[in-house]
Amino acid sequence: MRIPIQEVTPGVERAEITGFVHELRDLGGLSFLLIRDRTGIIQVTIPKKKVPEAVLSAVREVSRESVVRVAGTVKAIEKAPGGRELIPETFEIISLAMSPLPLDVVEKVPAELDTRLDSRFLDARRPRVAAVFQIRNACMQAVYEHLFSAGFIQITTPKVVAAATEGGTELFPIAYFEKEAFLNQSPQLYKQMMMGAGFERVFEIGPIFRAEEHNTTKHLNEATSIDVEVSYADHHQVMELLEEIVIAAYRKVDTTCRPFLDLLEIQEFQVPSSPFPRLPYDEAIGIADRKIEEPIKYGDDIGTAAEKAIGEEMGSHYFIVDWPTAIKPYYAMPYQDDPTVCKAFDLMHPRMELSSGSERVHQYDLLVRQIQSKGLNPESFSFYLTPFCYGMPPHSGWGLGAERLVMTMLGLSNIREAVLFPRDRHRLVP
Ligand code: ATP
Ligand code: MG
Repeated sequence: MRIPIQEVTPGVERAEITGFVHELRDLGGLSFLLIRDRTGIIQVTIPKKKVPEAVLSAVREVSRESVVRVAGTVKAIEKAPGGRELIPETFEIISLAMSPLPLDVVEKVPAELDTRLDSRFLDARRPRVAAVFQIRNACMQAVYEHLFSAGFIQITTPKVVAAATEGGTELFPIAYFEKEAFLNQSPQLYKQMMMGAGFERVFEIGPIFRAEEHNTTKHLNEATSIDVEVSYADHHQVMELLEEIVIAAYRKVDTTCRPFLDLLEIQEFQVPSSPFPRLPYDEAIGIADRKIEEPIKYGDDIGTAAEKAIGEEMGSHYFIVDWPTAIKPYYAMPYQDDPTVCKAFDLMHPRMELSSGSERVHQYDLLVRQIQSKGLNPESFSFYLTPFCYGMPPHSGWGLGAERLVMTMLGLSNIREAVLFPRDRHRLVP
């Protein structure tokens, strides 16, 4: 019976394994193959005079990256990976791979990201690439565990919607029978409506669609958002939750992903410690103004250059808090004593923004005024506004980008490395 390659240890007598042909070498009287499965690599050694003819003819025919089944005896041998080798009695080609391969899986030839993404199925056979997705998986597992154990209900909300969450132009229109519809840019309005439904603690991990026109290394047109909303919580409480979740993801990777971190040559993996500094927006602007060329003043958005300058100064994860109401969405709660400032926050990694959140406006009249003040028409939001007329708990929440979390955690230079099949301006296939 087939066993994972990792479980073929020098102490095992006989084994049957399946996997891809990682490498093939013919040294005259001896052939060596490396066979790879999800768990590891094993050397298959073929002393040509000592194995059945059927094995030899299969080995002659096989190509790199073919899928094979090999059964035989295991011998301890120091020089081979894992300190053992397999001498085959049977060797079956399950699926023969064509040559040449569109992408070199053993990484002798480094490939451009675009070429890699074109053949992502082969690219992801490379242990270093697979490691990123193992780590992403561990992060998501930590997030789920944390939220479920804190009593959150996972919800699923529509991705096909009639109106924009925040107005704006970053929307993909789609044909929906006789109507125009859009791909949702955020589950914001729906998770808030579920506060009106009394669910108190909800989360959704799902796709968000942004028609950002510019190809950058930190934007995707389809991204994964970890979205959370909590009733009777203020912005401070959901910032603490966000901090805990980011730390839980790092901790999970630290404790369960060592071999993957090693593959990625990440020796110093640091779990960030809480509390993350809370940097008021006006101080952040002050730092940026001192450090960057282009002029920046109170009320401006924090662009890429400013983000980088402030990040360098801060050095690790931090929050930017107390934003001007004018540059945050209408649903962010203004301070009562100074409504020009609101209870919004961004969670920052020194390299970029990871999350935005806020305490929300839960008063119907104020919400309508804020929608109007952004130049939007409250009528197009009536499905969202109605729940605020029938008892709405105060609430707060945030959205955290899964790809950015993984990208910054692993120091990946391009966000496309953190998603299997990225969608960007030029890429719709595969
Ligand atoms: P940025 O200013 O960096 O473009 P944003 O402020 O437009 O981000 P939000 O609407 O606040 O993004 O979304 C919350 C989080 O979702 C972001 O902090 C980010 O982690 C993630 N996110 C948003 N848009 C994208 C995108 N196009 N690609 C990848 N992640 C995204
Ligand atoms: Mg944001």
